[in-house]
Amino acid sequence: MKNYRAELVGVFGDPVEGNPTGVTMEAAFADKGLDYRYLTLKVLPADLEDAMRSLYVLHMRGINLTMPHKIKVLPLLDELSEAARIIGAVNTVVLREDGKLFGENTDGKGFVQALHHRGVTLEGKNITLLGAGGAAKAIAVECALAGAASITVVNRTLERAQELADTLKKHTKTEAYSERWESRHQISGSTDILINATSIGMYPDDGQKPDIDPEGITPEMVVADVVFDPADTLFLKEAAMRGATPVNGLGMLARQAALNFKLWTGVEPSLEVMEETLRRETERKKI
Ligand code: NDP
Repeated sequence: MKNYRAELVGVFGDPVEGNPTGVTMEAAFADKGLDYRYLTLKVLPADLEDAMRSLYVLHMRGINLTMPHKIKVLPLLDELSEAARIIGAVNTVVLREDGKLFGENTDGKGFVQALHHRGVTLEGKNITLLGAGGAAKAIAVECALAGAASITVVNRTLERAQELADTLKKHTKTEAYSERWESRHQISGSTDILINATSIGMYPDDGQKPDIDPEGITPEMVVADVVFDPADTLFLKEAAMRGATPVNGLGMLARQAALNFKLWTGVEPSLEVMEETLRRETERKKI
């Protein structure tokens, strides 16, 4: 008998209208010949519990969570990965065969994989992290779990940097420090990997860059950006001009989506298809 029922996954968020993940996932499903649909669904905070119940009702494989649900979903889950537990936020849920809801956070894992792709490992490295929000936290925890020697969190709001440093000290073996972001901030000379984990430089503010002293960027450094639109940010262009190795946010975004794909389907997607679709979508938005 022909099967007309597709497997369902998707994202719950509000707003979700500008989220391009569905197009990326659908392109990757088609590429692998998988009969899956990715639904981009608006869910208000008050409806999250009902929405999570719909995973069972509709026999869905899982769901992505985006703003404002990443933290609120925690008590509705049965099990968390180590990283999701330490980060205290989940971006991907899998409805397992045993009927349990498993929560994972793939943002930081996507970042670590993007570094690996450029031949960069974390073990023993000194990291300077600009920002202390959701993306920064996910990146910091995964870098610490991957063996980073130290992480210095630099943030405009010092309390948030301190909180993140405390989390790292409590749950991982990495040395963690916090600094208030000063004007033309001086980056420590011992930094191996410098990361912009803020939204500074994101379209339409792509003429902006993080306020650091550019003299502090050396050819030995790896400089990474979470901003994915544009992929080639002003921050990365300047770092590359100073001889540093740039790592863009598009690779991180494609890799976290690829990890979600694998969690739901058990199949390894084509990263080229995902990255190319994302690049095309971010270009199309500006027309
Ligand atoms: P949050 O709102 O949680 O955190 C924002 C962070 O940026 C805070 O540390 C904030 O500082 C800082 N910040 C914002 N504006 C400024 C400014 N003008 N000057 C100094 N610091 C500033 O956001 P997220 O962490 O969720 O997202 C951050 C960026 O990462 C977004 O652009 C998002 O699109 C991107 N992202 C990319 C991913 C990828 O796969 N490439 C994945 C996830 C996110 P303060 O605490 O002082 O407010």
